Amino acid sequence: MPLYDFICRACGREFETLVMGSSRPECPECGSEDLQKQMSVFAHKSKGDSGAGSGSNCSGCSSSNCSSCG
Ligand SMILES: [Zn+2]
Repeated sequence: MPLYDFICRACGREFETLVMGSSRPECPECGSEDLQKQMSVFAHKSKGDSGAGSGSNCSGCSSSNCSSCG
């Protein structure tokens, strides 16, 4: 579901709401439609946990210190 975080520019209230179709969200505090959409909450998670790039493995064989195919 398209759940978004918003900050109301009028009163500063933070809230999250569903945005469906062409309906415009409005602040639950003051009813203003002058809202700033925040990034998804999933964006807070750090990426890059693959751990690639460690070591200097030979690309031609499984050894790490291969001298014949490096
Ligand atoms: Zn507001």
